[in-house]
Amino acid sequence: MYYFIEVVLPLAVSKTFTYQVSEAEFNYIQIGMRVAVPFGKTKIFTALVIEKTNTPPQLYQAKEIHQILDEKPVVNSFQIQHWKWIASYYMCSLGEVFRSALPSGYILESETIISAKENFEIVSDELKDDEYLILEALKNQSSITVQEVIKILGKKTIFPIINKLLAKGALVLQEEISEQYKPKLVRYIKLHDEFLRQERLAELLEVLSKAKKQRELVLHYFQLQAQDKNPISVKKLIETAGSSTAIVKSLVDKSIFEEYYIAKDRVSFDKVENSNFTLSQPQQMAFESIHENFKSFDVNLLHGVTSSGKTEIYIKILEQYIQQEKQVLFLLPEIALTTQLVQRLTAYFGNQVAVFHSKYSDNERIEVWNQVLENSPKAKVVIGVRSALFLPFSNLGCIIVDEEHEQTYKQHDPAPRYHARDAAIVLAKQHNAKVLLGSATPSLESYYNVQTKKYGITELKVRFGNVVLPEISLIDLKDKYFRKKITGHFSDELLESITETLSNGDQVIVFQNRRGFSPYVECMICGHVPHCPSCDVSLTYYKFKNQLRCHYCGYAIANPTHCHSCQSVDLTTKGFGTEQIEMELKTLFPNKNIGRMDQDTTRGKFGFEKIIDAFKNREIDVLVGTQMLAKGLDFENVTLVGILNADNLLNQPNFRAYERAFQMMTQVSGRAGRSEKNGKVIIQTYNPYHNTIQQVVGNNYLGMYKEQIYERQNYKYPPFFRLIKLTLKHRDFDKLKEGSLWFYNVLVQSLSVPVLGPEEPAINRIRNEYIRTIMIKVPTNTNLGKTKEIINKMRTSFEAISQYRSIKITINVDVY
Ligand code: ADP
Ligand code: ZN
Ligand code: ZN
Repeated sequence: MYYFIEVVLPLAVSKTFTYQVSEAEFNYIQIGMRVAVPFGKTKIFTALVIEKTNTPPQLYQAKEIHQILDEKPVVNSFQIQHWKWIASYYMCSLGEVFRSALPSGYILESETIISAKENFEIVSDELKDDEYLILEALKNQSSITVQEVIKILGKKTIFPIINKLLAKGALVLQEEISEQYKPKLVRYIKLHDEFLRQERLAELLEVLSKAKKQRELVLHYFQLQAQDKNPISVKKLIETAGSSTAIVKSLVDKSIFEEYYIAKDRVSFDKVENSNFTLSQPQQMAFESIHENFKSFDVNLLHGVTSSGKTEIYIKILEQYIQQEKQVLFLLPEIALTTQLVQRLTAYFGNQVAVFHSKYSDNERIEVWNQVLENSPKAKVVIGVRSALFLPFSNLGCIIVDEEHEQTYKQHDPAPRYHARDAAIVLAKQHNAKVLLGSATPSLESYYNVQTKKYGITELKVRFGNVVLPEISLIDLKDKYFRKKITGHFSDELLESITETLSNGDQVIVFQNRRGFSPYVECMICGHVPHCPSCDVSLTYYKFKNQLRCHYCGYAIANPTHCHSCQSVDLTTKGFGTEQIEMELKTLFPNKNIGRMDQDTTRGKFGFEKIIDAFKNREIDVLVGTQMLAKGLDFENVTLVGILNADNLLNQPNFRAYERAFQMMTQVSGRAGRSEKNGKVIIQTYNPYHNTIQQVVGNNYLGMYKEQIYERQNYKYPPFFRLIKLTLKHRDFDKLKEGSLWFYNVLVQSLSVPVLGPEEPAINRIRNEYIRTIMIKVPTNTNLGKTKEIINKMRTSFEAISQYRSIKITINVDVY
């Protein structure tokens, strides 16, 4: 009898692989454990066991595994099933899902370790120089890595040399795997067992009578123990006794004390205060409606205006599932929002709350992973961004998707290119769990699903505490410029309102959808605009750093003093971004504190938190920012929001432009007047009569929905058609052009649905690679699986053509 396991490797290959194991290993291994397996010539990978079998593979001789890495499964069957769905729906490999699902500390790295064979005599004159150098290095250290050899020899091709030494019997190789995850250990101390007996104890104190400090410490230890029976950490013992590590050490050396270690959670939340609250009457009605809808719908949309207190309703809903001993997942679109939410949720649920996102370290993420795996009481509520979907839930009761319309729920790169809201709905179904989507501005898709009775709906039309929605007024920029009523980029009315708001002691948010100082620099004489050498985009000007930077690849140069084309010094900046607005405000309001929140100011682990805290604590009076500001933040003293230019939101080359512009403006406006003070919003635009802007002013979501859904149907877009976008990239323009045309043609021939392209996108070169796209529109009433199958088949034929093989293809299903 032979024994095999089927494993997934963390790679973009569509197959799974079969490895051979012994009978004992076979019996030990469970599905969901990790094993280290050899792959290719020298590599060792961490693989995930997804099946056990007695049938050998057909096409190749199965290799043996290297070692088993787990004592119990780290992945459960719910996850494997869900990941298979993601791989198939979003057209990627299961390995790619596996790779992005597991915390990277769980995917071990292989390092080839080289050491000298024992008893090998070096006969120097038989060795080449390079060989000699390697063996010399091994005299000083017991082993070296491949990387170190490359350094020592100063060249990359070292395998032939190592092979020669191996043949001479001078070296041994060993693929060694090192666990990357190290639990944080806390050092504890206890009295050695033998002194627990009464008579020995007296003896001990007798012995220590000369070492006064040691004796005191032992006595203090007894005191602590008498107070409570918890383990005593070395730190606590030293601190409370006013003793020192040296004294502890001498007691350990004498075998009187014994040290031991306990793994401690890196992140834990204490219940700050028991913040209970009661739902207002409208909230209570919404709560009951959700409850009722869940009887007949798996998914319910909570459409509640900004500041209606959706979070409070979520909390009360979640509480019900926690009482039933269920796990719940709270998804957020943006890491920036977790801080505020964690505060609100821990205040209510205490240390039952765990947080999972990419700004956490690997070790922190593994800890949360394990808590969820063990269904620990510390991870009853998991708050996270989209990747939290991959956690090992076994008992999910409910998933909340807050701000469900946010585009950040869609992952674009790398694969899996999944939409977290949609993948959450599938996950919930597996667990028989419910999904609550929440938004003040639902996505067209979700609202359409409500209209077609797929989802339930709960409407909440009033703000908490009956605070009125902010009053929105429009400023016609054309008119203001004509009458010279503009300072910098601010109309007189906006400036007056800012002045007034600040003098009332309130705060202001100013929204501008571009970062940097200005999007480009232009020569006044010849019109030349400096571009990134590797991307098809103009360079953004940063005044403070006096630099031009590329937002696509990070390329940066010093701001030129003259035109690179005609040498003229007559250069001017065009357009404006957040940096420029921040500077204008600093000049206009020299005594006020101006802050800025965009991608450039929020790097680093606590980048967002610092700015949000500063604004909350009123260290900042006016906060300038990009769309980050639009995302559900709750500041109680903001009474004015200014949108500097609504038009660049509307003029986006994207079928969602108007939907998004509506959502963005409504959401930013929603930051104003959240407490009893009334809020005010001023929108500057060249198109005050634009339908979308009028819909924002009238708080007319339904009007926006109806107009846009009509357009979507007309022009064959979601939710009536599913979009699958193929992106092809290559450094060689002609090869790419030819290859994408070939691909397009075979797709048109084999598919009976609209295929568009191959198109050069608006930005047709990034990091020196040219780009072409092909868009496939699949009507929702056709068989999506069949279409994908054909696309995959055509892709395989494409990749079989030798001159096209180097063209990179990515597939994005439900591209946003
Ligand atoms: P939304 O997410 O709908 O925009 P929030 O949940 O942020 O709104 O609520 C807005 C504000 O009202 C918050 O400061 C919140 O603490 C407060 N609030 C909402 N509901 C209640 C309640 N039932 N009791 C006390 N405060 C509430
Ligand atoms: Zn010029
Ligand atoms: Zn670039």
